[in-house]
Amino acid sequence: MEKILISACFLNNLVRYDGTAYDVKNKLGMEVLNTITRWQEQGRLVALCPEMSGGLPVPRPAAEIIQTDAVKRELGQVMTITGDDVTNEFHAGAHVALERCQQEMIKMAVLTESSPSCGSTTIYNGQFSAKKIAGEGVTTTLLRQNGIQVFSQFELAAADCYLNNLEQK
Ligand code: SF4
Repeated sequence: MEKILISACFLNNLVRYDGTAYDVKNKLGMEVLNTITRWQEQGRLVALCPEMSGGLPVPRPAAEIIQTDAVKRELGQVMTITGDDVTNEFHAGAHVALERCQQEMIKMAVLTESSPSCGSTTIYNGQFSAKKIAGEGVTTTLLRQNGIQVFSQFELAAADCYLNNLEQK
């Protein structure tokens, strides 16, 4: 059976920077919740929070990927709103996620859009101004560099199709 790496905050784990979980039902609706629940009942979900896996606590200051020349470094630099450099923790968490995928032979992930770890098409702009730009989080970058398909919570139908194709191979 194909397994799916999923952001832990989608499964009612209180791991977000502000100590909350992602409210799937209210933000995305029953159809998305039902898909996630089906995957969970099938035993295919592997939940992981890269930021906690990298050693960061809950709650923790909001963090963003800094959009300077440093972003050209492998996986980019991450700073908190309070001015701490948490690049090492973000990179460590991304590597834990990749190792978990490799251990469980996971080929796809569903991760939280716009997070500096988990974002897959957008991230915040690095200036803590609530503005988003095109980009991806640190964990998403590392997973994609290693051939793992990453979807956001807004792409669950596409993720389900991808899963079906994997299962038919
Ligand atoms: Fe959720 Fe990912 Fe942020 Fe952890 S790092 S709280 S899994 S979005």
